[in-house]
Amino acid sequence: MSITENYAKLREEIPADVAIVVSCKTRAAKEIEEVIDAGATDIGENYVQEAEQMYSALKKKAAKVRWHMIGHLQRNKINKALRIFDVIQTVDSLEKAAAIDKRVEKATKKIVPVYIEINIGNEDSKAGIKPEEHEPFEEYTEKLVRDMSALSHLRLAGLMTMGPRFGNPEDVRPYFRRIRRLFEKIKGLDLTNVDMKYLSMGMTNSCRVAIEEGSNMVRIGTAIFGERECDIGKNGRQY
Ligand SMILES: *Cc1c(COP(=O)(O)O)cnc(C)c1O
Repeated sequence: MSITENYAKLREEIPADVAIVVSCKTRAAKEIEEVIDAGATDIGENYVQEAEQMYSALKKKAAKVRWHMIGHLQRNKINKALRIFDVIQTVDSLEKAAAIDKRVEKATKKIVPVYIEINIGNEDSKAGIKPEEHEPFEEYTEKLVRDMSALSHLRLAGLMTMGPRFGNPEDVRPYFRRIRRLFEKIKGLDLTNVDMKYLSMGMTNSCRVAIEEGSNMVRIGTAIFGERECDIGKNGRQY
């Protein structure tokens, strides 16, 4: 099936109130163009440099969609990231949040939506807050949320998680459930600059379970573009 057909099928299968962020790592500009033409509204990129290249290759089409940073954001790339991304899903510390806030202020961009990333499986290969390093991590995250509330150039708008990659997606259900509970708890807090709207969780093999557990934003690559040859990009980067 073509990218166009894959996207249409996915959009049909996934409930309308669940956003689909198309994960574009290792894909060519032509492929991204096709998925945008097929109706994709949200594009996810893992690296600032690749997003820049993609953004300029897509010309006018780039401005038609929202750009989500879904990879680890290095401090020295924040300014560049702010020129491209509409949403930064990968805040994992107060220091990172404060650095972004400061740069948004300088750039006189109004307000940037950010999500907190939680590495729920405690995996070394992934970014995000590792629960095992901060138990009880619900309290740790709530404290981070309260601290971030003071940053007036950011809007904390969601939580993002990868979840461990199990062969059987049922195995990740309890992890997703734990994040959902935390999401609801934060949503219930009445804090300035915090408006918890998005629970970004679920990828190709786990999106059904993630949606059942309350996700309203899935990040999908493989089901749209097909298998990646490997998780090492043409430039030698590991994803
Ligand atoms: C690659 C990636 C995805 C999508 O993974 P697929 O299995 O290809 O659907 C989602 N989120 C992040 C952060 C990714 O790096």
